[in-house]
Amino acid sequence: MDNTKKENNPVYSRTDTAKVNMSEAEWKKILPEDIYNIARQKGTERPWTSKYENSKEIGTYYCAVCGNPLFKSDTKFESGCGWPSFYEPISKGSIIYAPDHSHGMSRTEVMCGRCKSHLGHVFEDGPKPTGLRYCINGVVLDFEKAKAAEKKYEGKNKD
Ligand SMILES: [Zn+2]
Repeated sequence: MDNTKKENNPVYSRTDTAKVNMSEAEWKKILPEDIYNIARQKGTERPWTSKYENSKEIGTYYCAVCGNPLFKSDTKFESGCGWPSFYEPISKGSIIYAPDHSHGMSRTEVMCGRCKSHLGHVFEDGPKPTGLRYCINGVVLDFEKAKAAEKKYEGKNKD
């Protein structure tokens, strides 16, 4: 699967930060069914099904709907909850928060800061320094390995 190709998705961009506003009918036309069900219908993928759940690769996680950068791999941790988990988003603007009282629970929903797609929930039982656990559906994440240029830059800092 090639996640960098989004021919049918005109809003997908990893550099454009303009907010995305589309009708659910438009989203339905653009998005693959699995992404649509979670991102727009606030679904939840089955636990332990995401290829990112155990991934320790170095890189960046983007919104699979619009390409907004969401999390860096160095804030990912092994939570054991069955979904990819992070303790901190890339920036304050990466994420939008909303109270969620569905299913008889009191939780905080997290959505993409650019396209308002449902990503998952945040809980206050994460590791330091934030104490937060962003529990995210892997279906709505795109991952890109750190580029050679970034690695070179890190190497430069060492000497
Ligand atoms: Zn998005």
